[in-house]
Amino acid sequence: MKEAVAGELAAAYHSSIVEQVRVNDFQHRAGRLTVHLAREFGFCYGVDRAVDYAYQARRRFPDQQVYLTGEIIHNPHVNDRLRAAGIRFLSESAEPWETLGPRDVVILPAFGVTVGDMARLADQGCTLVDTTCGSVLNVWKNVVRYAQDGYTAVIHGKIKHEETRATASQALKYPQGRFLVVLDRKEAQFVCDYIRSGGSPAAFLERFGDALSPGFDPDKDLERIGCANQTTMLMSESLEIGELLRAAMADRYGEAELPRHFRAFDTICSATQERQDAVLALLNDDRPRPLDLMLVVGGYNSSNTCNLARICAERVPTFHISDPDCLVSADEIRHRPVGAPSTTVKVEQVSRGWLPAIDPLAVGLTAGASTPNNIVGEVIERLSKYASS
Ligand code: SF4
Repeated sequence: MKEAVAGELAAAYHSSIVEQVRVNDFQHRAGRLTVHLAREFGFCYGVDRAVDYAYQARRRFPDQQVYLTGEIIHNPHVNDRLRAAGIRFLSESAEPWETLGPRDVVILPAFGVTVGDMARLADQGCTLVDTTCGSVLNVWKNVVRYAQDGYTAVIHGKIKHEETRATASQALKYPQGRFLVVLDRKEAQFVCDYIRSGGSPAAFLERFGDALSPGFDPDKDLERIGCANQTTMLMSESLEIGELLRAAMADRYGEAELPRHFRAFDTICSATQERQDAVLALLNDDRPRPLDLMLVVGGYNSSNTCNLARICAERVPTFHISDPDCLVSADEIRHRPVGAPSTTVKVEQVSRGWLPAIDPLAVGLTAGASTPNNIVGEVIERLSKYASS
């Protein structure tokens, strides 16, 4: 079946211009413009596999209704193609989940689903096509171990993101399991202050809202903690948060007692790390001419794409665009402001004068793990056209 869909996938997502750019040492020249492409970009192994499984499922069950629980990955083009292939999205379907049964096929996305949703679909007898990425499963394994051993999972992630919700639900497989989701350094610091000095439990619960397991008691549930991450967070921030928490626990319980109170492991996936490393290499490259701007291509609700944009924006003017149509003209660009919450889908603004009228012009380019090559290729073509007009 894999061979049967290989042609379909290549036709949908391959880009010959991207292949040329790879061969040409990740550079593309067009008149005054040089595009510098990051050496790791676009579809990761988990996304590749999830999309492949979805196409295979559609072929394998031609007479059955195939559903997805929600977006398979955070890229609107890929999701639209699956809709066009007849796959229905439960998140936007009028059909309630209760009506699903043994004749229905349900694809679970790369970032997984909650323990509750998985059990429900299995109980109803649906055929499940599970595309949950191995790197996500690795995080789950560690969070379950924390729960077994009585450690609260402190997850660096976004509570509204499907992966983080699914990961947090793993902590509740055991009665003593607890979770707390921290979004950033500021929230982690709030937790650290509580660990060191205590405070008002009510204020703590109010601050974190639904980012806590039910019945969370900060006085008790912060005595033993284990760190985990959403796989697509900014690696440097995750490491820093882990270190902040470690230092707070050491202050509270002493270095000698630390192993009884604190655990950590790195759960940023290798694909996310490679894309972040590659974009840093692009920014740090000692080329004769520095980059004049960066384009970062990917879904606006794609966490890893938003984090790539954050890295770039610290060094060079950066535009996070979802597709080539965002390059409206040589003067006008539609883009997502860097730093806006990645769970807000519709944030987009229009800027003018984005493409400097200089010669030579150096533009850096990368794409998130859910962005197919055909989209990257079309961005290069559109950029080349504007730069030479
Ligand atoms: S970004 Fe990482 S965890 Fe997510 S699907 Fe890709 S490889 Fe898997």
